[in-house]
Amino acid sequence: KSFNELQLAEPLVKGLVKLSFRKPSKIQERALPLLLRDPPTNLIAQSQSGTGKTAAFVLNMLSRVKLDTITPQALVLAPTRELAVQIRQVIQSMGEFLPGLVVQNIIPDPSKKGIKYEAHILVGTPGSVVETIKRKLLDTRQIGILVLDEADNMLDMQGMGDQCKRVKVALPHKPLQVVLFSATFPEEVMKYANQFAPNADEITL
Ligand code: AMP
Repeated sequence: KSFNELQLAEPLVKGLVKLSFRKPSKIQERALPLLLRDPPTNLIAQSQSGTGKTAAFVLNMLSRVKLDTITPQALVLAPTRELAVQIRQVIQSMGEFLPGLVVQNIIPDPSKKGIKYEAHILVGTPGSVVETIKRKLLDTRQIGILVLDEADNMLDMQGMGDQCKRVKVALPHKPLQVVLFSATFPEEVMKYANQFAPNADEITL
């Protein structure tokens, strides 16, 4: 299968060519048709880093955001700030040919008084996103996609699972597509995942 067969828009295919992605990896080939369905459905996917999982959820977000107004429409939660920065960079490079695309990391900044985030896609750790929502610096009304990357690692860390839930309840948009990636699914993670992303399609690599 090719990226064209996965029905990706021309600017996205162009970005992938520039990144020398010749054909979809297994997780991309399996996840993208499920992620791109309309109306959107939830997804729980098991896959390690190195499999191309980032591109799978990034291409879905880039396919769905509307660029005409700079309003937050997709939000990615990641367990560490370093990973959040990497994900933001992947989104920007894959979206290079989408005119006007704005992607930002959510990083708490006490000096950033009252200025709301202006971006189509935002990436942050659960703690920083909760803080940002509390301070009313994030307009959550149009956020229709919530991605949890490395969900198992987030659940390992004190309180991050609860913070993820707090973020989710602050997203009023219907429908809300919840996408959850995890390298492993021990019982505890599976239970959490099923509550967090109800009625999800499931992929195991
Ligand atoms: P990830 O599993 O998202 O951490 O990605 C692992 C690495 O594989 C990254 O360096 C990507 O740039 C690369 N990669 C992902 N998808 C593809 C693809 N379809 N073709 C070539 N490289 C890819």
